[in-house]
Amino acid sequence: MSAAPPLALRPGERVLVCGAAGFLGSHLCERLLQRGCAVLGLDNLISGDLRNLVALQASARFEFLRHDICSPPPPQAEGVSRIFNLACPASPAHYQRIPVQTVLASALGVWQLLELARRSGARLLQASTSEVYGDAQEHPQQESYWGHVNPVGPRACYDEGKRCAEALMVAYAEQYGTEVCIARLFNTYGPRLRPGDGRVVSNFIVQALRGEPLTLYGDGQQTRSFCYVDDTVRGLCTLMESGWRGPVNLGNPCECRMVELAQRVLAVTGSASALVHRPLPQDDPRRRRPDIRLARERLGWWPEVGLDEGLAHTVSYFRERLGLRRAQRPQ
Ligand code: UDP
Repeated sequence: MSAAPPLALRPGERVLVCGAAGFLGSHLCERLLQRGCAVLGLDNLISGDLRNLVALQASARFEFLRHDICSPPPPQAEGVSRIFNLACPASPAHYQRIPVQTVLASALGVWQLLELARRSGARLLQASTSEVYGDAQEHPQQESYWGHVNPVGPRACYDEGKRCAEALMVAYAEQYGTEVCIARLFNTYGPRLRPGDGRVVSNFIVQALRGEPLTLYGDGQQTRSFCYVDDTVRGLCTLMESGWRGPVNLGNPCECRMVELAQRVLAVTGSASALVHRPLPQDDPRRRRPDIRLARERLGWWPEVGLDEGLAHTVSYFRERLGLRRAQRPQ
């Protein structure tokens, strides 16, 4: 049997999850409750959805408060021993409509949580992003790469906000000895993505299930590497328990062109939808793939769920959410 990690989560331990009603946050809360933790979930519900928490509300160890992390934390949050910060709009189509709230969630919000961590002696995990690498000129992306980000472009509110959050985390660790760790997440997908979220996986699945054309931006040759949510959540918990600061890439190194993703979604859904091309958004990164050697070596973590399997779980979720029956496979 392998030894317990240095900072193993203990049953009954009080854990704060910010962004709890979001796609990723709700899965994390579920996992922490399974581990026996007492979970306080916060969310301002800008992009979160209370429906994601319905199953969790039954647990006596789960409490939810509507709260914006840019404000001082509620009294219930004082004295927690761990903080996971997943609170930030993450879909480009969405965050570009609220750029001010997006920057502030990562700058002011993280500052508030760092102050809480400092007061409480808590360990804070920040969900950072592959977007800190911008339209990367190194491929695959290693943690040592400083990135290629347009600081005044349409994605700046997200990318620079997350970069600022990383800088703040490191500053608190250096100046005050605050316990921090940074995970750089690459395109996570799975059940509970919002149907109208605007990201590629949810768009393609919803379009395929409704028999509408799949909207391929640009020539569809740009790549992303998609990580199934269960793998991401396991990675977050492993990093939290490791005692290591990171930053560490958490993603699936299996790289996929958007045109190939569209074909896979059509195959998994059995849809006969056509593909239509739409203009490529400004500053859309061309290629993205994580180098996960650090995660393997330092955390013993790597993804286990392949794209077709993960898409199948995600499609089942959307079928139910949209109230659709299984589509007929074309003859
Ligand atoms: N994309 C697409 N069709 C869509 C939505 C997105 O082709 O309906 C492309 C988008 O241009 C990008 C990739 O899919 O190259 C991933 O976009 P997403 O918004 O999911 O996340 P990003 O990785 O860009 O933050």
